[in-house]
Amino acid sequence: MKTHQYEVVVVGAGGAGLMAALYASKRGAKVAVVSKLYPTRSHTGTAQGGIGAALGNLEEDSPLWHAYDTVKGGDYLADQNAAKVLAEEAIDAVIELEHMGLPFDRTDDGRISQRRFGGHTSNFGEKPVRRACHAADRTGHMILQTLYQQCIKQQVKFFDEFHTIDVLVNNGRCVGSIAVDLATGELHVFHAKATMFATGGWGRVWSVTSNAHSLTGDGAAVTFRRGIPLQDLEFFQFHPTGIYKMGILITEGVRGEGGVLINGKGERFMEKYAPKIKDLASRDVISRSIYMEIRNGNGVKGKDYVYLDVTPNTVNRYLAEAGESRRITGEDVEKKLPDILDFCRTYLGVDPVKEPMPIQPTAHYAMGGIPTNVDAEVVTDEHWTVLPGMYAAGEVACVSCHGANRLGTNSLVDLVVFGRRGGMKMAEYVKGADWGALPANPAGEIEAEIQRIRNSKGKSRPGEMRATMQRVMMEGVGVFREQKAMQESLDCVRQLKEQYANDLHIDDTGMKFNTDVLEAWELGNLLELAETTAISAINRTESRGGHSREDYNERDDENWLVHTLISRNHATPYAIDGTYNLNTEKKVDMSLAAEDERFKPKVRTY
Ligand SMILES: Cc1cc2nc3c(=O)[nH]c(=O)nc-3n(C[C@H](O)[C@H](O)[C@H](O)COP(=O)(O)OP(=O)(O)OC[C@H]3O[C@@H](n4cnc5c(N)ncnc54)[C@H](O)[C@@H]3O)c2cc1C
Repeated sequence: MKTHQYEVVVVGAGGAGLMAALYASKRGAKVAVVSKLYPTRSHTGTAQGGIGAALGNLEEDSPLWHAYDTVKGGDYLADQNAAKVLAEEAIDAVIELEHMGLPFDRTDDGRISQRRFGGHTSNFGEKPVRRACHAADRTGHMILQTLYQQCIKQQVKFFDEFHTIDVLVNNGRCVGSIAVDLATGELHVFHAKATMFATGGWGRVWSVTSNAHSLTGDGAAVTFRRGIPLQDLEFFQFHPTGIYKMGILITEGVRGEGGVLINGKGERFMEKYAPKIKDLASRDVISRSIYMEIRNGNGVKGKDYVYLDVTPNTVNRYLAEAGESRRITGEDVEKKLPDILDFCRTYLGVDPVKEPMPIQPTAHYAMGGIPTNVDAEVVTDEHWTVLPGMYAAGEVACVSCHGANRLGTNSLVDLVVFGRRGGMKMAEYVKGADWGALPANPAGEIEAEIQRIRNSKGKSRPGEMRATMQRVMMEGVGVFREQKAMQESLDCVRQLKEQYANDLHIDDTGMKFNTDVLEAWELGNLLELAETTAISAINRTESRGGHSREDYNERDDENWLVHTLISRNHATPYAIDGTYNLNTEKKVDMSLAAEDERFKPKVRTY
């Protein structure tokens, strides 16, 4: 076993991890990044539509309006101090990315071009505003490449294809992490003064998802097993427009450019559900509307999908109806949405310039995660107690700036704003901190668990178990929820956990490039997240944002303007028999509402 010492170790090389690594190293810390994927394969690279910042390049805009939209879009569960930081620091972060060389699309006079996105409005909900800065429909790809180049320039050390499988907490502080090198199967100890988890989301809990295969919630599961709670897991976003059956994302940018949703009867149904803002309402609202249409028999050809139409004829007809002078051509669509056209032509044989795209909601984004404060420091309870040396940023973290539902473009902002803050905080922390002692035999427990998986000769195959989990989570803990169905999904997930612990079957028992073992280990993480998501969802007896219950269909601000913290009561990190603590004492920060009436919770209308 090898032991490495770095002042700062960042686990994850997506936008959040790279931004943090860049800043920590610029501020003088010795930094390593550990990533199970080659960095530029991180999911951030697939982000399409844009990064929100109130630059006001095309229309008047302000960070306060951006913060308002974030709070309202989050159905008032967002911590308002965090939403304020997000909106204010977005501007500077985007300009900084531009200065690093990110090739944003431009306006005719050379400034960063901006497009509309769901839920982004001017003047406190008055009308849609162009706030999303974009590089065609490859914004995330450009961010990732730009940040990776900067990290290389800064001489950050990269450990690529190293899977982090444990975090070391000793004497009340985090002192490092353990990773397995995919190429050799060897375990490595990373002894660090500051460790940041930036491992992304866990869309792979559900069967229809926009998320890459690698998004298995490793960071969240690992910290959870070591006693750190997870916050607001019941809020998982279903993006309205995934390619039918495949889940591959069709960016909201399509609707930003004028695309509309059409049901089987040829109606633009969002006019009914959000008369003012229509197809640009926030994602939870649109996903639910699509399901209502399907339930009412208005799916296309009686099936469970609707159309997203960006053909110039349709778009121009609605633009004219709305009294807008703007018109689009087939060439505009080709230029602004090249990757989307490519996906549809390749995977569906559908040409979006000429015909509408069949879509359905797809599991997309974890609003919940490892609880942190606005400096990316991990907190372990409702009193905001910081766990020294432990940080989290990006999708795996819950700051919480997105509340119960994230607005489009706000994840990329979250990565760069809170990644940067975390990087700076870590650099400051390591200057004053000693190394802290590693626990005795630091890799002992996780090594035994990996050995157990490697030598499993039961009957349950990970691939089949994963498919069952994904199906029951889609059915019971998806866009619409109610007690009985959620409980059934939870029971099934628990049975799968039992099988995972006692009846797993693995074919490959070798050490080198053993993806069999690592994929089985990832399934363990997914099951952990499926179970805790279902428990958190059953516990919250109201509907808010992405959590929509048919048996409690009202938002209940009196009882539920609080975050959910779930933690485990198990004897060992890998035990499956145990109970969970649910704590709902963590209040939502209302600091903007204290000064401005408009930030007080109101029923959301669009
Ligand atoms: C298709 C798609 C389109 C999107 N479009 C947009 C958009 O236009 N605008 C927007 O704001 N948001 C968008 N999002 C959301 C946004 O892209 C993600 O939330 C965000 O990129 C997550 O970034 P991250 O840095 O947290 O993690 P990721 O980019 O997911 O990276 C995770 C990193 O963690 C590493 N990792 C994971 N587990 C381990 C482990 N066990 N050991 C070591 N390393 C590990 C991986 O190797 C990877 O480097 C989109 C998401 C998807 C899926």
